Order: sequence, then structure tokens, then C-alpha cells
Amino acid sequence: RIEKLEPQLHTFITLTPELAISMAEAADEKRSQLKKNGASMPALLGLPMAIKDVLTVNGVRTTCGSRILENFVPPFNATAVQHLLDEGMVVLGKTNTDEFAMGSSTENSAYGVTHNPWNTECVPGGSSGGSAAAVAARLAPAALGTDTGGSVRQPASFCGVTGIKPTYGRVSRYGLIAYGSSLDSAGVLAHSAEDVEIIFRLMAGFDQRDSTSIDRPLEDAGCAKASDIKGLRVGVPREYFIEGIQPEVEARVREAIAVLKEQGAEIVEISLPHTEYALPVYYLIAPAEASANLARYDGVRFGLREENGGVIDMFSKSRGKGFGPEVKRRIMLGTYALSAGYYDAYYGQAQKVRTLIKADFDQAFERVDVVAAPIAPTTAFKIGGHGDDPLAMYLEDVFTLPANLAGVPGLAFPVGFDGQHLPVGMQLMGRPFQESTLFRMAHAYQ
Ligand code: GLN
Repeated sequence: RIEKLEPQLHTFITLTPELAISMAEAADEKRSQLKKNGASMPALLGLPMAIKDVLTVNGVRTTCGSRILENFVPPFNATAVQHLLDEGMVVLGKTNTDEFAMGSSTENSAYGVTHNPWNTECVPGGSSGGSAAAVAARLAPAALGTDTGGSVRQPASFCGVTGIKPTYGRVSRYGLIAYGSSLDSAGVLAHSAEDVEIIFRLMAGFDQRDSTSIDRPLEDAGCAKASDIKGLRVGVPREYFIEGIQPEVEARVREAIAVLKEQGAEIVEISLPHTEYALPVYYLIAPAEASANLARYDGVRFGLREENGGVIDMFSKSRGKGFGPEVKRRIMLGTYALSAGYYDAYYGQAQKVRTLIKADFDQAFERVDVVAAPIAPTTAFKIGGHGDDPLAMYLEDVFTLPANLAGVPGLAFPVGFDGQHLPVGMQLMGRPFQESTLFRMAHAYQ
């Protein structure tokens, strides 16, 4: 199926057929061995998955969608990947992404755009667009993504699949190549809340190699309890139903909320008053952190090197050639926001407002168990639809950024279609570490 559809969709940057076959053969062998001994099987034994090209897989080229890492072969597995390999996952390849996960359409990849399987003239969303499109087109039953400001949820929505952005600290960031370190989380995309939950639970857990990893046990699995959502309170934040939102998106989300109500959930109108600041706050904090994280690509330690005379010349030529335009824009935004004299006015101020956004959620979760909201103002847009307008692209993220700024989990799942037969998604955001409640509700809906 990959051979047949990949030429139209371009969901992978690197396919690993030999590795997949050898892993599958090893899984077969293990299966017969375990069967002989009457032992239990690992949860994912032989399950093929696609991995966003931002998470490292030992011995497989990892580009982050960037020329600067075109030949980078990491000598280690990301912890999240390692956990799944331990359970028998088979790696199909590395999926397309906006360069360093900066974008909302996968158009910022240095390796070409991914096409939305529902309409190949449209983007799949981003930055985990390759993963979302691969799952939607059934090239892989599940895929890993990363979400710094919506990059699992928004492509899940555009491609009609289910995807989780876990609580910050729940899944190790070791081997997740850093974009905005205080916002990055590794997540899963698959066809149902149930599939996503199984894989999420295996990925999660404390990791000494990630200083922000949190040692906290998982709650009981949510999908198992989905037959009863009576009494769970669903908050509907008025700030997420704003002018400019595509009417069909609002309609499908409201219908889905009504379905939850029919099943016994209590619907409560709430307010998250600082929502409008999430966009400016994110677009200061994320580029600031990115500018620091990307300083390591200097042509010396790994990645592209343009040699030519002095060392400063090498730095600037390697970076000049290796990074694409959006990455350069963010480095400039970030270094400016962090520079002496502007730090307090921009970065410092953004951090304070971030605290207020977090406080909005804390207050809301005193009254409700989950917050239900749209994921993006529109369904999938046309490739090239935002032209060269970075601000129009940033506006795609208004509804997804708050969860990352607050560190709370968010689950995206499909709730219908617009008039063009493009999928509409909805997100449920929850209390920190209560992913299971999100799975429970989404599974009840599904
Ligand atoms: N679209 C947002 C950005 O460009 C979020 C990307 C992400 O979550 N990685 O930064």
C-alpha cells in the first residue's frame, strides 16, 4: 500500500523496508517461541508503525525535515521509541514534518510537502503531517508525532484521525529533537482512542535522561470505563468559539458536545479569559527556546558542514545553507526577544502571561473534568493557501497553543466532515496527568 500511494501522498522522508522486514521476522520468531513456552505476548508484537522524523531511531537517518541534518544517523533510540520497540513494534520509516516541527502544514519541510489523503490538493496539517496522513491513508495503523503547539492535534484533525498530546513530562523527551523544550511532547496518532491509549500507555513513564520527566504512575485505562461517562463535567470555553471560525467546524464540535450530553455528561459554559494571549505568548517563547536549541547546529559536531576558510565563516555558511526560511525567521525572532534590553519586555512578559493562561485552566478544572473545543479554525486548507504569509499560518494555531503553554493533555478526534468532505476534529483538554479521562470520553463518543 505504501508503494502504491506514497508517490501521491509523500508521507515519509525515509522508508526502512529492510529494517521493517527483519524486525517483522524477529517478531514472528519471538511469537512462536513465546507460544511454545505458553508465555504472554508483548503488546505490540509485529505492529508496524511510522515515526515522525523528529524522534530518533537508532541507525536510521533522522532529518527533522531539515537539510542541516540530511545525513544525521543517530546512535540511540528516543526513550518513547525504545519503550515501543521493547513491546515488539516494527519500524516502517520516518515521516515528513515541517522543518524542526515549525509549521502547521508540512509545507516547511526541506523534503517536499505531504498531501492530505482526503483531498490531495490540501495540506495534511502540521507539523506531524506525514504521520497523520500515513495513518489516515492506512499506510500504518499508528504513528508517533510531536506536539509543541498543536502538531499532533491539528494534523489529526485535518486527516480525520485520533491523536494525543500528553501532559508535559508524561512521556520522555529524550531523543525528541528539541524545538521548544518547555512545550515539546511526544504523542501518538491512530484510528481510535483505544489504539492511541494502548500505545500512549506504553510510551509514558519516568526517564532519568529527561530532567523534566515526571515520576507519576498512570491512571487506570480510560477506554475501559467509557460505557459510563455520567456525571463527568465538560467545560465549553466561550473564547474558543470566535468570529472567523468556519461555521461547519463550530457546528460539528457543538454536535459532538451534544452527543456527550446524551450519554450523561454535564455541559458547563466556562471562560478561559487569557486565551487570546496564547498566540503572541507562544510565538515569543517557542522561537526563543528554538533559537537556543538550534545553536548546536554549527557544522562542527554533527550535521551539514560547509567548509571554506575560517571558523566563523563555516558556522554561518553551514547554518545559512542548512536551515530553511521559516527556521531562520524563528531564530531571528527568538534571539531578538532574548537579547539584552528586550528580554524583560518580551520574553519575561510572555512568561508572566503564560502563568495566567495556566491559571485559567487550573480554575476551570475546579469546575469541570474536561474542556471541549475546536482544534483549528478551519478544515484542511489548500497547499500554498497561506502563500508566504507567516502570520496567517500562525493563526492556525490559536486553539492548540494554550494546552502546551499550560502543560495540560489534549486529545484530538474526528467528529464529522465539512461540505467539502474534509474531516473536522475536536479536542478534549484535561487536568494534568488525567489523559485517561480524555480517552474515556472520546471512546464513549466513538
Ligand atoms: N504550528 C506551531 C508552530 O509552528 C506548532 C508546531 C508544533 O507543535 N510543533 O510552532
